[in-house]
Amino acid sequence: MEYRRMGKSGLQLSALSFGSWVTFASQVQDNTSEKLMQVAYDNGINFFDNAEAYASGKSEKVMGDILKKMNWDRSSYVVSSKVFWGGNLPNQKGLMRKHVVEAANAALQRLNVDYLDLFYCHRPDEFTPISETVWTMHNLIQQGKILYWGTSEWSAQQITEAHVVAERYNLIGPSVEQPQYNLLERTKLEKEYLPLFKNFGMGTTIWSPLASGVLTGKYLNGIPKGSRMEIESLAWIKDKVWNAENQVKVAALNTLANDLDVSLANLSIAWCLKNPNVSSVILGASKVEQLEENLKSIELLPKLTSEVMAKIEAIMGNKPHLTSY
Ligand code: NDP
Repeated sequence: MEYRRMGKSGLQLSALSFGSWVTFASQVQDNTSEKLMQVAYDNGINFFDNAEAYASGKSEKVMGDILKKMNWDRSSYVVSSKVFWGGNLPNQKGLMRKHVVEAANAALQRLNVDYLDLFYCHRPDEFTPISETVWTMHNLIQQGKILYWGTSEWSAQQITEAHVVAERYNLIGPSVEQPQYNLLERTKLEKEYLPLFKNFGMGTTIWSPLASGVLTGKYLNGIPKGSRMEIESLAWIKDKVWNAENQVKVAALNTLANDLDVSLANLSIAWCLKNPNVSSVILGASKVEQLEENLKSIELLPKLTSEVMAKIEAIMGNKPHLTSY
């Protein structure tokens, strides 16, 4: 395993990490969740990602029970939660001080830990002043309940505002952003966020490196039974991600992967790892064999020569255009 600093912070994250969205407490049984965590940890993964919204808190409960049972040294892993979607009542959703504090306390209980290493704002909250959220996160750090805080899918402008508030009042600002990043979804990380890396040293822990499985090529011949695209509440994957244009690109990528004698899953994950602004690629898996396969992606990095990268660009045709002055 390779370890990378989370931006300019001192924290070291495994370049491949593991998250439980869709899977824990819903798609997979608890004994599979346990095996997945064990395989991840045994292979050097030190970052486990979770959120209050995942299976309405049950995903954190499953992960917390596993952490307790495994009894791994607390210093050997990093665990996260995210706050935003806690419930339907007025103060159960958003980033107001009340919900952020209550969500942190609830996550600590469910995950069976004394502190969260990372605590993310799962989405921006247009109704709460950013300064209220920054102060609350700073206070949670001072109380020892969280160690670092971050954002997920915030705009560069919102993240910049958080840093401006932090600098003005000498508070601890966000250290990390969690955007979607994969071969089909590139603009935020490769264009919009560039000033954040330069000006604030933000790290990134990126989600859906396989675009929910689409970038494994598994859907090229129809929808396999039990796969994510079958899940009704995730119909947008079929409608939006698996559109005609992307189907052609994935087929071409699959041919390239075959030529290189690697799996498309490995090629897609390694491509994310190749970006130096990525601190950690969060893997998802519903089966142990998937995780075992995806862990091999790191070995593929030397094969991603400039020639191979150029072939990938030619297939994708979606490299964000950077304005030069
Ligand atoms: P991926 O895009 O990698 O999708 C993972 C899914 O793809 C698996 O559950 C499995 O689904 C399928 N898959 C994975 N590997 C293989 C393989 N080798 N062969 C065939 N199928 C495979 O990642 P996720 O979308 O799961 O995201 C990863 C993590 O990122 C989440 O767990 C979460 O922690 C985080 N996240 C954060 C978000 C945010 O807003 N901050 C949003 C979404 C995710 P199946 O078997 O069911 O088809």
